[in-house]
Amino acid sequence: MSFQYVRKIPTFQDILKEMPLEADLKKVKAQRDEEIRAVFERRSDKFLLIIGPCSADNADAVCEYVTRLARVQDKVKDRIILIPRIYTNKPRTTGKGYKGMIHQPVPTEEPDLVAGLKAIRKMHSRALKESHLPPADEMLYPANYPYLEDVLSYVAIGARSVENQQHRLTASGLDIPAGMKNPTSGDMTVMLNSIEAGQHPHTFVYHDWEVRTTGNPLTHAVLRGATDESGKNISNYSYADLTKIAQVYLKRPLKNPTVIVDTNHANSGKDFRLQPAIAMDVLSSLRKDAQLKNMVRGLMIESYLVEGTQDAGGGVYGKSITDACLGWDDSEKLILDIAEGVAKL
Ligand code: PEP
Ligand code: MN
Repeated sequence: MSFQYVRKIPTFQDILKEMPLEADLKKVKAQRDEEIRAVFERRSDKFLLIIGPCSADNADAVCEYVTRLARVQDKVKDRIILIPRIYTNKPRTTGKGYKGMIHQPVPTEEPDLVAGLKAIRKMHSRALKESHLPPADEMLYPANYPYLEDVLSYVAIGARSVENQQHRLTASGLDIPAGMKNPTSGDMTVMLNSIEAGQHPHTFVYHDWEVRTTGNPLTHAVLRGATDESGKNISNYSYADLTKIAQVYLKRPLKNPTVIVDTNHANSGKDFRLQPAIAMDVLSSLRKDAQLKNMVRGLMIESYLVEGTQDAGGGVYGKSITDACLGWDDSEKLILDIAEGVAKL
C-alpha cells in the first residue's frame, strides 16, 4: 500500500461546530440566495457577475478585494449582483502546482489539509462578514462542500470535472446554483448532459451515508472556451456561438436554461486584458437577440487587486499566483461599464 495516512480529517460537523457562522451572516446569505434564485427563475432581470481572483491565495488580500467589491456593489445594486470568486480549490492541468488554500494554507509551504480546511472556512466567513457578499467557489472535491455549505451562494463544476459522476450527483443536492462548465474539449453535449444529471434526483453514497437528492433546477451552463489538440484556444462567446448553444440547450428538457460566460480561460486565450472587450461583445449579442438576452444571465471574470500573475513565492500583495487577472481599477471600470450596458438591454 503506497498511501501514507498522514492525519485524520475532522468531519464537517466538527468544523462547523468549532467555527460557527454568525447568525446575522446566515440571514445575509439566505437573502442573497433568494435574489440569485430569482435571476435563474426569471423573476429578476439583474445580471450576475461572478468576479474575483483565479485563486484566493491570501486572506488579507481577498478580504480587501471583496470590501472594495462591496462598495462597487452599492453603486450598481439596481442592475448587478456581484458574487465574489473566492476559489480555494484549484484543479491543475497536469496535477503540478498550487492546488489552492485548501491544500496549502501557505502557498510556498508543504500541503496541510486540516489547516487548509480551517483556513478556507475562516477566510470565507471573514470575507462574508466584511463584505456581506456571499461568494462562489469551485466544487472541485464534492465531499468538501458541506464544510462551506453555509457561506457559499454559487458553485462551479470546473472544465476538468464536469463529466464526473460524483460532481453531477452532488450538484443535484445543492440549493444554490451549480454552474457546469463546458469541458476543455469544448463538447457542449458533455456540459448539457451534466446539467441534466444535476437537475435530476439521485440516490448515492455521500459522507458514509446513502443519501437522496431532489435534483437542482438551478444547475446551468458556464462557457469558458476550449483548447484543441494542438493547444490552440477556441473561444465560445461570440454571437454565432451563443446562438448555436441556445439551439441545443433550449431543445433539451432542462429547467431555467441559463448561460454564464467566463471571459477568461480559453475564451480570452488566457490574455486577461481581453476580458472587458469580451464582456462588451457578449452584451452587444444580447442587445441583438431577445432569446440570447433571456438565456445569458451573467459573466465570470478573473480580477484581483494587482493585474497579471506571479510565481507562488512572488510576494506581490493581491496579485494572482495562478491565472492572470485584471487589476482593480480596470475591474471597477468594467463593472460600471457592464451596469451601463445592462441598463440598455
Ligand atoms: C477557474 O475558474 O479558475 C478554472 C480553473 O476554470 P476552468 O475549470 O474553466 O478551467
Ligand atoms: Mn482561472
